Amino acid sequence: MKPHEYLTKGLLLPELDLISVGIISVSSRIIITKKQRCGAVCPKCASLSSVLYDKRTVSLNDQPIQGKRIVLKVIKQRYFCKPCKRPFTEPLPGVLPRRRTTQRFRTQIYWACENFTDLKRVCKAYRCSPGFVYKAYYEQLSLRARKHNLYPFSSHIGIDEHSFKRKNGLSPHKFVTMIVDHNKKKLRDVALGKTSAELQEQLAKIPGRENVKLVTLDLSDSYKSFVKGFFPNAEIIADRFHVQRLMNPILHNARMEITGDKRKNPVRFLLSKNRSNLQHYERSALDTWLNHHEKINEIYQFKEALVRFYRTRGIKPAEIYFQKLIDQLALTENPHLKTFRRTLIRWRNEILNFFKYRLTNARVEGFNNVAKVIKRRAYGFRSFENYKLRLLNACS
Ligand SMILES: [Zn+2]
Repeated sequence: MKPHEYLTKGLLLPELDLISVGIISVSSRIIITKKQRCGAVCPKCASLSSVLYDKRTVSLNDQPIQGKRIVLKVIKQRYFCKPCKRPFTEPLPGVLPRRRTTQRFRTQIYWACENFTDLKRVCKAYRCSPGFVYKAYYEQLSLRARKHNLYPFSSHIGIDEHSFKRKNGLSPHKFVTMIVDHNKKKLRDVALGKTSAELQEQLAKIPGRENVKLVTLDLSDSYKSFVKGFFPNAEIIADRFHVQRLMNPILHNARMEITGDKRKNPVRFLLSKNRSNLQHYERSALDTWLNHHEKINEIYQFKEALVRFYRTRGIKPAEIYFQKLIDQLALTENPHLKTFRRTLIRWRNEILNFFKYRLTNARVEGFNNVAKVIKRRAYGFRSFENYKLRLLNACS
């Protein structure tokens, strides 16, 4: 192959011959081409026809070359199909029927949407309307998502929810539930709503429910009942971060009764941090403060006990520690700690499962953060379907 032939082949679509190149304006070029082969297959009856009927010229928007807009003029032949008794236009590889843009141009738009900061820049760089960018981008996303739907559930999954739309007028606050595949480290599916009925309806299409062995959850009762009904062989693991976090509101509400303010008090930081991460002088300052406030001291000791509980290794020591914690909590007078004890008892097996399998919901929480960024970048979503496509693409 000669060098110029090699270049033309790289720049043009397959099966096209270059006729001429022209300049439309400073920033636009035109390439006139023709299809190589004579004869084409009828799209209706699939019989080969080489009876020429007439010619048509179509203009296609192709991907820019060195920042210049490229208009591809293709002289297309129309053939007459004898069995069907009607003419048809020859198809062009790389361009879908009735399209005025090449597929590679649309893939480039997809790339730009993923990498540019906003839609305006994409429109400017590719000289197309926001409507076209929107259409091309979501078309590419749904093509990618189609591959996603085929494979069944894996053995380890994680479930969590995040907010989709705030309450607005009469429409209620909407939530989105994410199902994360821990084995493949990506988002498996997204469902609108967080009730058991909504999830069952939307996830029923995915095969392989019985494959699921472990499910990580935050401490949500609706998800617990959903998992028990939907995945027959699954064991639930309560996420350790959510269990530890239960102590924070109890601790800080008790502190605010004394210190009054909300965030700026230095005691707040000392109380929130793990004791083992504190400097020795911080520790002694905190101890002096706690000695004056018996009520907080009690809560703080339980918070630290919970930290030590999660440091234990193996299911047997964890069971013993857990029982000890429950027994100690039974002696307290604090109503919030009593509620906390009841929660621990209700989730006993799920909490202890963590020590058997050592799996957390961290990946799901990470994807929640990605979801937040996507919502911000798009300035919010109206359509849940579009949001789902964006999420599936970003978290896979
Ligand atoms: Zn035909």
